[in-house]
Amino acid sequence: MSRPGPVTVPETFSSTNLERSPIAPAWLVMTMVVLSCQLLILTGCAGTQRSSSSVVVKRTQMQMGTLVTITSVAPDRQMAQAAASAGFQEIHRLEKLLSTWIEDSELSRVNAAAGAEAVMVSPETMQVLKDSEKIARLTDGGFNILVGPAVDAWSVLDRQEVPSGAQLAGLRPLTDRRGLSLDEERGAVKLAKAGMRVDVGGIGKGFAADMAVAAMQKAGATAGVAALSGDIRTFGRLPDGMKFPFGIRHPRHEEAVLAFIDLQDEAISTAGDYERYFERDGVRYHHILDPITLQPARDCQSVTVVARDGMTADGLDTGIFVMGRERGLELVERLPGVGAVIVDRDGKVWVSSYLKGRVRMNDGIE
Ligand code: ADP
Ligand code: MG
Repeated sequence: MSRPGPVTVPETFSSTNLERSPIAPAWLVMTMVVLSCQLLILTGCAGTQRSSSSVVVKRTQMQMGTLVTITSVAPDRQMAQAAASAGFQEIHRLEKLLSTWIEDSELSRVNAAAGAEAVMVSPETMQVLKDSEKIARLTDGGFNILVGPAVDAWSVLDRQEVPSGAQLAGLRPLTDRRGLSLDEERGAVKLAKAGMRVDVGGIGKGFAADMAVAAMQKAGATAGVAALSGDIRTFGRLPDGMKFPFGIRHPRHEEAVLAFIDLQDEAISTAGDYERYFERDGVRYHHILDPITLQPARDCQSVTVVARDGMTADGLDTGIFVMGRERGLELVERLPGVGAVIVDRDGKVWVSSYLKGRVRMNDGIE
């Protein structure tokens, strides 16, 4: 597994004095992974900044198997803290519905009942499943929440075995999206065959970021960020009028930021082949699978998507990663309010027209 470098510079976190210096672009590097976030916790990234009219609170917690950083801007400290807490609580609530690591979560119950019976789910779970299907259709099946059995067979973080062609062929019928039935009226979900399972790992964090932001707004925050590792949703602006600045990590230089972008009322999400992978005989095997071959998708090194909401950004980054650069960019150009930065398999960077002029390449890297 790749490790993060100084792009997450802890000092920038501890020096986010809004009155004296604008927040450095790297302070919210969206590709933060676990180690860097641990550093941030150790260096006290939970803190409060005050400007003349607003207070900024920033807190980090481990949720949904990743580090979640919430930045909350509000007229006073108490409200900013309450809004941050509301964001964390909302993510916790959703984790209990959606996590397949939690045995009695709604999705675990759907998976356990595969091939047997329909399971009643909450409107939130239904919405994630419905929107997953929408992204699946948009990406011509590149995004497929039924790839779970194949994700398990690869077990990129544990066993790190390359499954045989026969093993993958045997799993293919279990990954057929037609096996998922959603009865919205009744709120019931059914998987057709035993062994099928839903895995919302490619979209759930973006959804949680959206819901956390809604909870923060309800609690009085005027601006903020919910960042679940690289799946991030923003609203409003910083008290000094600046948009929220992010760095997109370079997929092959752990310590480098590829490009910078500022966001307001938008989401950003990155899928990359560098966060969870292993190498065997010089070949990189990572965690995003092409649902047709059930092999790791090969056309991109990273796909960053900007969209109006987190669920769209998160679902599309995974789906476009599978579609590849050419078809992926074609899709993005057709979607209003959606942009992408794609690093293709050769390391060439492609920026869609929606983001041209907004993305600043980091000239400091070779
Ligand atoms: P992360 O931000 O956790 O890296 P991504 O958005 O990159 O997540 O999605 C990767 C996760 O999505 C995988 O770990 C797996 O659970 C799931 N996944 C893998 N391939 C696909 C696919 N083709 N469609 C939908 N989900 C996928
Ligand atoms: Mg995704």
